[in-house]
Formats: sequence, structure tokens, C-alpha cells
Amino acid sequence: MSETFKAERDTIAGLALLAANHVRFDPPLSSGAGVSHVRGFNVHCLVIDNTDGEVLALEQNHIHAEGNPLQHAEQVGVRAALDRLRKKRPRPTDMPVEKYYKQLLFMAPGTGADDFLNFGCTLYNTFDPCGMCATTLLVCYMKRIAFLFDDQKFATVYDDMRQYFKNRDSVKEPLSTVAPAGGVATPLQDAATLIQSFRDRVHALETAGTPLVFTLDSQFDELAKATRLLMQIRPEHLTTTDGERDRNLRTLEDVRRLCNLQ
Ligand SMILES: [Zn+2]
Repeated sequence: MSETFKAERDTIAGLALLAANHVRFDPPLSSGAGVSHVRGFNVHCLVIDNTDGEVLALEQNHIHAEGNPLQHAEQVGVRAALDRLRKKRPRPTDMPVEKYYKQLLFMAPGTGADDFLNFGCTLYNTFDPCGMCATTLLVCYMKRIAFLFDDQKFATVYDDMRQYFKNRDSVKEPLSTVAPAGGVATPLQDAATLIQSFRDRVHALETAGTPLVFTLDSQFDELAKATRLLMQIRPEHLTTTDGERDRNLRTLEDVRRLCNLQ
């Protein structure tokens, strides 16, 4: 397995989640308004096609915008990504629909470390998914889930539920980051440092009593740093090679386009 590839892609995705939170920031309202946000919580997710690095969807929590408490970021994201995948990889005429779910949409067979990076899709989300979304991601055969911030309340739900889904070839884990710089840091290494500082602050805020889902509300200026770093990454800053580099460049270009940064 290419740990370099995994760490580089995860860092780009983690930075993109923070940048999306900045460029699509939903400012918190005063408690007197009776509602916390206009569109929904500051929670985002993106879905990447592991086979080529395409970002199939970059979405956010939209519960208030639609008056629909089911519209968590993951719910909006998987449906948008499914729409894209059905066009990108239409079901072959000789393939049964259930095999289509298991082999050509978000899922592909295999439990090796490489299989989770090179086949099927990865959903990246701001927080370890809630019980509803963890189950949804199992139902829709997501190959890999990688989250930015822990959520201890829901930490075990995914694996608890996975046994009811025949232990399907799916994994949920914290997203990884590139190694720190030995000398002058590249924007990707700065991104890894920024992600760690966010993890520390979110943990501190939650420990002090802020509900986890509100912990990014007070960090608009820090989120702006993610947007600036995302704009600074150049192809020469990537350390992967060949096909892995091509895929990560595709992911980088896609997330910048989806954030209207290019
Ligand atoms: Zn959820």
C-alpha cells in the first residue's frame, strides 16, 4: 500500500472540508433567534472516486434550508454522488442490479489495504458520522469513510452495524495526514499542521461544553487559512508519482473548482 498516496489524498480532502466550511460558512445566529443557523450546521462532506480521484460531490448539512432534519451532509453527499456515478458508470446490460451496488458504485470487492484506496469510493466527512449516517453509508455500500474529527458518541456505531450487513468490505477511520516538514514546510505539510491544530481546538471546545456540531462556528478566521492553503498547493508540492499523483491532482483540481477557487 502506498501510505504516501493515502496521506496525501487524505490531507487534500481534509483541507478541502475546512475550506468548504469557510467559503460556504453559515454564520451562527444568536440563541434568541430560536434557530442556530440559516441553512444548517457547519458540517460538510465530500465523496471521492478512488479509481481516478474525481470528487463526485461536495455537500453540506442542509437541514434548515430544506426544512428537512434528514438532510445531514452525508445524506446530501451520497445522493449527489450516486447521481454522478450512475451517469459515469452506468450498469452494464448483463449485470444484475444488486451486483451493480457491490461492484461498480461506491463498493468494490476486497479487504486489503490497497483495495480501500484504489477501488470503490471514499466519503470524507467533518465528523465521525452519526448513527443515521453510519447506517446509510453501510446501506449504500460505501467502501471507505474517513472523518476529520472524532465523535465519541457515535464511534462504535459503524462497526456495530456492519455485522448486520454481513461484515461488508467497508472501513471507517480518521483521515490521515502527511508527515511534518523536516525543513521548510510545503503547503501540504502546513495543511497537516492546520488540521492537527483544528483537532486540538475542536476537542478543547467540546471538552469545555460546546456541542461538537457547533465547534466550527467560532473559527471562521482559522477556516480562512485552509482556503488560502488550498489555493497555494502546486503540482510540484505533491510527492506521489505516476497514477497516484494523477489521481491526487485530479482531486485537488476538483475541490478547488467546487469551492470556486479556480
Ligand atoms: Zn448524520
